[in-house]
Amino acid sequence: MAAPHKQGEVVEKILFLAHVDESCNVLPKAVYEVLGLAIDVAAQMNATLTIGLIGENVDTAAAFIGSSGATRVLAVSGPDFAQPRYASDAAALEAICRAVQPTLVLAPATWRFSRVLPGVSHRLAGQADTHITGLEIRDGALTASRWYYRQRIEAVIRRDARPWFLLLESGCHKPWTGEPGAPSMEKMPVVIPAELRRTNVTGTRAPKSEAQTIRPDADLLFVAGAGWTKKQSDGKVHGEEAESLILRFLELSKASLGGSKSLVDQSGDNQAVLGFMTHLNQVGQTGATPRHPKGLSTCCHGEEPHVVGWRFIHERRAINLDPNCGWARGKADVLYVSDAFEVMKRVNELLATGSEKKEEATATAR
Ligand SMILES: Cc1cc2nc3c(=O)[nH]c(=O)nc-3n(C[C@H](O)[C@H](O)[C@H](O)COP(=O)(O)OP(=O)(O)OC[C@H]3O[C@@H](n4cnc5c(N)ncnc54)[C@H](O)[C@@H]3O)c2cc1C
Repeated sequence: MAAPHKQGEVVEKILFLAHVDESCNVLPKAVYEVLGLAIDVAAQMNATLTIGLIGENVDTAAAFIGSSGATRVLAVSGPDFAQPRYASDAAALEAICRAVQPTLVLAPATWRFSRVLPGVSHRLAGQADTHITGLEIRDGALTASRWYYRQRIEAVIRRDARPWFLLLESGCHKPWTGEPGAPSMEKMPVVIPAELRRTNVTGTRAPKSEAQTIRPDADLLFVAGAGWTKKQSDGKVHGEEAESLILRFLELSKASLGGSKSLVDQSGDNQAVLGFMTHLNQVGQTGATPRHPKGLSTCCHGEEPHVVGWRFIHERRAINLDPNCGWARGKADVLYVSDAFEVMKRVNELLATGSEKKEEATATAR
């Protein structure tokens, strides 16, 4: 139970902001993660928690978080808020913030909110911090942590300025898993004049490989290194076999695909390598720092500029022919000194048998 307030202590008012997914009007996973964090922080600080929702239709989403314990749920909804458009999103979020007068605003760092929230903070004369990976109460005050210099330095930030807007990265907190309920939602009318509706989203263009292989919500990150394209023990390159083994594994496991710089650079040079790999898949110092509970590295040496991108991968395994590769030097929990072609072939067979058995069990149950 939270401690009672001492005299003179600032009582924080927390506003948690969320938007529904534009395509299906449900809440993205990142929303549940940051909601879990907001509930924990509110309990620890003895603060009030209000939820603000935006989107075309928020009724279903509000029901899903109905038992979160928030004192108020405010919503701005309707066709004007279906699209992720800066002008209308900023107007909706500003209206919610002015109605709540929060001291702390917590929101998931989705691309929709990352674009608009610093602007909303400016309108409210607040301060905004982005890429926050954790919140902690130290000496009764809220501190936020974020990484700098490609995840090499972690800073812990504390601010006196209020309202303080914090955009929180996904994959850093357990999602809230409460029961659905019937919240008493206050719908706020926000009129969007024609000049704020000039921008229209007419469609989404995503690079083919990103759409198919980069899955931020996956439980597993599968990394392919340049070894897949190197001459193997028979003196030959087995590019096609490598492609089909990796694609089959992704299909069966639903893992997200990462690559080493050496591998994605080859794809860019139009060499005969993995056709589905682009620079968007690159993990590392000059690539991405994805967040997944587990990672499996294959045919990748595990050099520091690559492994620095694994900062947020908790359980790490690697397959490499070289017992002295970087993964063996404390960078992985388990290293299989083995031929990745053979291992992945067997893994795919086992996964395929497992999914066949599951299908059979489902058919029998029907
Ligand atoms: C400033 C700077 C920034 C960089 N940024 C990045 C970055 O963001 N991301 C990144 O990845 N790199 C980055 N690098 C490059 C990095 O240092 C390495 O050169 C790169 O990661 C090597 O890629 P690799 O391990 O796939 O290839 P290699 O070093 O060629 O390793 C291939 C591995 O495959 C193994 N292998 C071959 N065949 C098999 C098989 N059948 N089964 C199992 N194993 C097999 C080999 O034993 C070998 O260990 C950067 C470097 C610099 C200087």
